[in-house]
Amino acid sequence: MRYFTTRNRAILREMIVTDFKIRYQGSVLGYLWSLLKPLFMFAIIYVVFTFVFGLGKGVPLPPTMSNFEDMVATIEQMPHEELLVECKFAITKEFDPCEYFDKKVWFRAIADVLKINKMVALAVDYKTGKILEDSQQLALVAATVFAHFPQVQAVRCEFWWLKDDAKSEDVFYRKDMPDMWRALWPRIQALEQAHETMTFPPKPGYLCRKWCPVVSCPHHGK
Ligand code: SF4
Repeated sequence: MRYFTTRNRAILREMIVTDFKIRYQGSVLGYLWSLLKPLFMFAIIYVVFTFVFGLGKGVPLPPTMSNFEDMVATIEQMPHEELLVECKFAITKEFDPCEYFDKKVWFRAIADVLKINKMVALAVDYKTGKILEDSQQLALVAATVFAHFPQVQAVRCEFWWLKDDAKSEDVFYRKDMPDMWRALWPRIQALEQAHETMTFPPKPGYLCRKWCPVVSCPHHGK
């Protein structure tokens, strides 16, 4: 049997419109209130349970994640003025801060956790793969933090290798950023040239064997 025939749909629409009119007749704010009410309820419940009853604080992680307790405690204990998570930062080619999807965006970075405490900051990036030291990536995250927080003079950037319960870290200073960009510039220029000429010579590495989607490459799977 077909329930959603043209006739049934017309009846259903008429019933909804009639119900709506009856409910909000003579009430200018009634419709608006029906939209805002769930939001207010959510806000009240959130404030009561989070700040009055303190739920969520001190609750242990699930057993499968209990080995991350020390990591979480490290973040909680460090003093801070500002705590941000899943921070998406971007800069222009002039190293000015910009929106993540700004038309002038030149470089983007994401920090899973960012703590700002006056002139210093901690940026943490969780990693689920195998340990791969990459100080350059840490330096680039630091560069975006410096661009977005002019008061910050030093950033400690850390990779947290979740599978191995290990960390890689490095400390970066604002005064050293020009040298960092200078050292990186030849690689940036090579990338820009490859992009402009659409020439991407294969560069075999550990990704060839399992992760690379370019199956036509002679190095694929090797
Ligand atoms: S298989 Fe993929 S990662 Fe390896 S060289 Fe070819 S394109 Fe590069």
